[in-house]
Amino acid sequence: MSTAVIVGAQWGDEGKGKVVDLVTEAADMVVRYAGGPNAGHTLVVGGQKIVVRLVPSGILQPHSMCVMGQGMVVDLEVLFAEIDALEARGVRTGGRIVLSDRAHVILPYHLQIDGLREAGPKKIGTTKKGIGPCYEDKVARRGLRVADLAEPSRIASIVEAALAAWAPVVRALGGEPLGVDAVVRSIDGFRKRALGLMADASVIVDGAIRSKKNVLFEGAQGTLLDVDHGTYPFVTSSPAVAGGACTGSGIGPSRIQHVMGITKAYATRVGEGPFPTELNDDIGERIRQSGGEFGSVTGRPRRVGWLDIPLLRYAARVNGIDAWAITKLDVLTGLDEIRVAHAYGSPAGETLDVPAFGLDAVVPLYRTFEGWTTPLSAARTIDALPASARAIVRFIEEATGVPAHIVSVGQERADTIIVEDVFRR
Ligand code: GDP
Repeated sequence: MSTAVIVGAQWGDEGKGKVVDLVTEAADMVVRYAGGPNAGHTLVVGGQKIVVRLVPSGILQPHSMCVMGQGMVVDLEVLFAEIDALEARGVRTGGRIVLSDRAHVILPYHLQIDGLREAGPKKIGTTKKGIGPCYEDKVARRGLRVADLAEPSRIASIVEAALAAWAPVVRALGGEPLGVDAVVRSIDGFRKRALGLMADASVIVDGAIRSKKNVLFEGAQGTLLDVDHGTYPFVTSSPAVAGGACTGSGIGPSRIQHVMGITKAYATRVGEGPFPTELNDDIGERIRQSGGEFGSVTGRPRRVGWLDIPLLRYAARVNGIDAWAITKLDVLTGLDEIRVAHAYGSPAGETLDVPAFGLDAVVPLYRTFEGWTTPLSAARTIDALPASARAIVRFIEEATGVPAHIVSVGQERADTIIVEDVFRR
């Protein structure tokens, strides 16, 4: 086993950071293939919190190479602030970070447009980091790529064309279009540094796979935010599913051997859009507080609900998930009872599959599990869990047909049940 994709099976924030960090102990290379500085993985190492937004979480393992693939959109200011912060904490990054020459650069007008839209009536709850507008420019064939940074005159002409295209949009939203010079100046200080990290990521990732290295592809956000397979239009603007690992890093599907899906033992969602098992009551608030369910980039409270098995089955299908990492099971400790949605019913009472449209109209049908009060963090095997917690894990496995290979029972790296390693060397 030498290549694996780790993908969020819900709406993101599944605790991917911790799982990726664990798995990277055995990874020689960690590749991010989609998204931008909205990811915000929280890593806790020796009691210290580090949030990485662009750099793959593998950066904390001194031996692993970190690749930012061409499926990403990169804000250079955020990237270098992150690298400087890592260095300040003693993490050596030199020679360990590769930035794809084809990745797109987030520019000040992308942030401006994102901000103006989110301030208006049609907001969808983005992180306002300019990611959506940057992908819009990519698809509209007027984006600035990392390789373009080598030629200042090229930067100016690309920026000029993009600003002209966006000007009516900015004005309609009540803003004032930015000037070409100001935009060019804003990235000038980062240009040489970015070129110093630049490489053809496809060649590098392919080379690692050919030499039988362990390569981990780290997804951003979650399946239900995928632009094709998520709850459109309340989605991110890039592929969050495992298939994106190929297009976003420049390797073919035959290279991917294993796909691990991450799911919390409950569910959360940030921003607008359907959420069938949402809890708008005291239980939801209690889970939000004990799970620390507040955005790591924005600090906003996340919507909280029960685990949704029909959506996990859907995620298993569209990603090809062959193992689960179940996180935050410990957060449910102390509740009187725990519910898990095992199917959907229509208002007329029939059982439904996950609908492509109209997810907001389904009625989740629940199975109820007894609560437990024993802390879980010392458990190192599934058998060591209280009977009811164990029953939830087994129910997830049976109802989705996918085994749990990791169960996370606390924030710290050590608070983890590992049933099977991702890379079996
Ligand atoms: P991510 O971006 O997918 O990593 O998700 P978040 O930004 O929501 O980070 C997850 C948060 O939950 C971090 O603070 C982690 O330390 C924490 N966390 C991860 N796994 C567990 C777990 O099993 N139990 C508890 N209590 N916290 C966890």
